[in-house]
Amino acid sequence: MNKFALFDTLVTGAGPVGLTAALALSERTERKIAVIDNVKILSPQPYDQAWALSRSVIQNLADLNIDVTPYSAEINEIIADTKSHHKPALSFLDKNSGRNVISSLLKKDLWQQVSNRSNIHIINDKILGVEQNLNGNGNSTVTLRGAKNSYGGRLVVGADGKKSGVRKGLGIGIHTHHYNQTAVTAIVKHTNPHRQRAVEFFMPAGPLAMIPYPGDRGEGNYSTLVWSVNNDSADAFLAQSIAAQESLLTRLLEDIYGACTYASAPPLSFPLQKQKATESTGQGWVLIGDASQSIHPVAGQGLNVGLRDAFQLASYVAQSEQLGLKFEEAVNLKSYEASRQTDRTSLASSTDFLVRLHQVKSNTTRRLSRFGMGLVDKNIAGIKNLVTKFV
Ligand SMILES: Cc1cc2nc3c(=O)[nH]c(=O)nc-3n(C[C@H](O)[C@H](O)[C@H](O)COP(=O)(O)OP(=O)(O)OC[C@H]3O[C@@H](n4cnc5c(N)ncnc54)[C@H](O)[C@@H]3O)c2cc1C
Repeated sequence: MNKFALFDTLVTGAGPVGLTAALALSERTERKIAVIDNVKILSPQPYDQAWALSRSVIQNLADLNIDVTPYSAEINEIIADTKSHHKPALSFLDKNSGRNVISSLLKKDLWQQVSNRSNIHIINDKILGVEQNLNGNGNSTVTLRGAKNSYGGRLVVGADGKKSGVRKGLGIGIHTHHYNQTAVTAIVKHTNPHRQRAVEFFMPAGPLAMIPYPGDRGEGNYSTLVWSVNNDSADAFLAQSIAAQESLLTRLLEDIYGACTYASAPPLSFPLQKQKATESTGQGWVLIGDASQSIHPVAGQGLNVGLRDAFQLASYVAQSEQLGLKFEEAVNLKSYEASRQTDRTSLASSTDFLVRLHQVKSNTTRRLSRFGMGLVDKNIAGIKNLVTKFV
């Protein structure tokens, strides 16, 4: 039988952003919170993918009792290289810039913390529809219709990712730009140690990042590969045998990494686009993380931005309550949205600029890539912002 349950805050999506939002709200408010997801947390695999997270985001997670150190690798140098010469084009040493964090272990850790909170209910259901019940007296609710039951919330937090059903159910549109690129990603084992360096190679086929990965016994011989390749090249690359792919990677990277083999095979692939919701707040609802905006992974920024959405949301809700205001009112939600504007827009436009700068075809690519790096070479502060925002 379809039942109805009412909560102060309904978070849809137990991804990293939704779980963090629930945890931060539980830490800072007395709200009765529910987190709804149709997928249960999966068991971590030996070589799961990883996210590069900034030092400040890691500190914010630590404030919620999430210590990522045991399942992450430190990044203390970031290099951008055009591969047009053997010497890296640019390098900055920044002790403890950030860490590359195993995604499934971060989610598991967040899940355990959320499960320990008495004011958070975890619900396994698929959200199929959304209804706004505006009653004009400041006590509006939003109802989420699930496959099993229905749920009401004074505040609905849509953290259900790029294809957000909450966004769709509320009738909110999206602006999408397809890059005609695919991200090919895997964990790579290499014979030379990474020495805690993250390297972004700006190659003609597209930017290729190698980010230190927490391999066994801290030997430093594993990195996450994220290669954003034009769709045609990605299809051709992925059509080859695993041995042929490894041999190509070795040829491309051996001057720094030595021989490369996959620790996780076959590699995963994701079509790349930039996406932004036309609105991200309204009476009784807010979209955060990829549900609100998703960006190209060239600078490893998407989750960092989404987690900052979550921290800021909790902080605004707590401040509103201290002032006796109803955060659910559209005007208060707009003020939260405005506070996130600069961070979101600057990262979306800087990653977009960087991708388009390198997204030119065949012969001209190499020349323009050099020209592009030449331009940024003259502006160290500029490239530091563009390529390594995650410090
Ligand atoms: C190749 C690649 C590399 C990347 N590397 C980095 C990096 O190094 N650093 C970084 O900061 N970012 C990186 N990103 C971006 C990062 O992966 C995303 O920003 C992040 O995963 C978004 O998290 P989220 O919680 O918003 O959404 P998601 O992780 O998509 O979670 C959404 C959740 O909602 C649930 N859900 C969806 N629909 C429903 C429904 N109808 N009912 C109930 N539940 C539902 C899903 O099951 C899921 O659990 C990378 C992205 C790519 C593609």
